[in-house]
Amino acid sequence: MWEIDKAFDFCYGHRVWSQELDDEYAGEMKCQCRRLHGHQGKVKVHLAPMYVHDDGLLPGGMVTDFNHLNWLKKFIDDNIDHKFIIDRNDPLFTKMVNLYDEENEDAWIEYQESFYVVDFVPTSENLAYWMYHLIQEKMAPLKVRVVKIEWFETPKSRSVYAGIPYSG
Ligand code: ZN
Repeated sequence: MWEIDKAFDFCYGHRVWSQELDDEYAGEMKCQCRRLHGHQGKVKVHLAPMYVHDDGLLPGGMVTDFNHLNWLKKFIDDNIDHKFIIDRNDPLFTKMVNLYDEENEDAWIEYQESFYVVDFVPTSENLAYWMYHLIQEKMAPLKVRVVKIEWFETPKSRSVYAGIPYSG
């Protein structure tokens, strides 16, 4: 079994508008994740080959070139680094995204560029799931499968999605 992994660091904000806590387990803690807040995040991508030679060795001697994830670095930098990931189903979505101010057009444009809109509650679990499928679709032509995605919300808190084996 061969596997490689590569990590990407970035900053992002989100709001888990659907958060509910069980007092027995959470104690006095309020639903802090409902607030607008940010993280120093990290995504770790684990990749494996779809095929190996009969002797177990890899075609070309590698799972894939690490540089074949350069597109992902660019995707993260362009779309989610220093942005606020917001669910279009968030009850506050319309108000948050449409704070139009005609007297500050440039600031308005910058503000609009601050958001990355998704169609799910941006929990670390859902973000790992989203990233898994995004990367698997892109890497499939290279005969590479995504084994799992680790989405670190903090250095001590992460979600892992291992998905189901890719069948082509
Ligand atoms: Zn959070």
